[in-house]
Amino acid sequence: MRRFLVAGNWKMNTTKESGAQLAQALASEVPSENPAVEVLVCPPFPYLTTIGEIVSGSGVGFGAQNCYHEAPGAFTGETSTEMLTDVGCRSVILGHSERRHVLKETDTDINLKVKKALEAGLQVVLCVGELQSERESDQTETVLNTQMTGGLSGVDASAFGQIVIAYEPVWAIGTGLTASPEQAEAAHLYLRNWLKDQYSAEIADSTRILYGGSVKPDNAKELLSQENVDGALVGGASLKAELFIPIIQAAV
Ligand code: PGA
Repeated sequence: MRRFLVAGNWKMNTTKESGAQLAQALASEVPSENPAVEVLVCPPFPYLTTIGEIVSGSGVGFGAQNCYHEAPGAFTGETSTEMLTDVGCRSVILGHSERRHVLKETDTDINLKVKKALEAGLQVVLCVGELQSERESDQTETVLNTQMTGGLSGVDASAFGQIVIAYEPVWAIGTGLTASPEQAEAAHLYLRNWLKDQYSAEIADSTRILYGGSVKPDNAKELLSQENVDGALVGGASLKAELFIPIIQAAV
């Protein structure tokens, strides 16, 4: 009943030209009617308009990697949700581990952004995940609970049609280390049960939970075949069509 979602997080990569080529390759390969899999790319801000035009009418949607929680105004360097919807963005990634750990965003910051993005009608891909040290000290579930509770504070059940959760163990991001299918499934099950306890069985059943962290064509099938894994958030391998397309195909 849950449609797979495969999202490419381009991070601070590509040029206008290489991003356009990548988007063109994806738009021509991904069928425009794809009931089994939703496909999304999240380019850097300066390229959103260009990429949006290229994928328009194709089976590829486009989203942003961040936003600010205030309405347009005097916030130098920030990007509002109004600007994102203005250029046709349909989604935004929030709470990515690089924003948490490199840019020092707190759960409170993330929660403000989540609420603002939901209000703007954007689909929110909320990322959660533990550090290696937290996994080693058996803190994984505590961390996931804190990040879910903080990120979704004050978010009403009625918003869940717009919410996707991404489980991204920080130790697996960009490292080549992947959570084993069993580790991923255990965390996803914990998150699904969390949704059930905090919201409802219906929301737990219908909310998609993506896995992210060194997803590649050769591990995608096994990860995506886990019962509670509903797609992938892909960094490095989303920058090459020849790697990203087989990951999309693994979801079918
Ligand atoms: P990776 O990144 O696939 O390069 O590990 C995933 C992510 O950070 O979303």
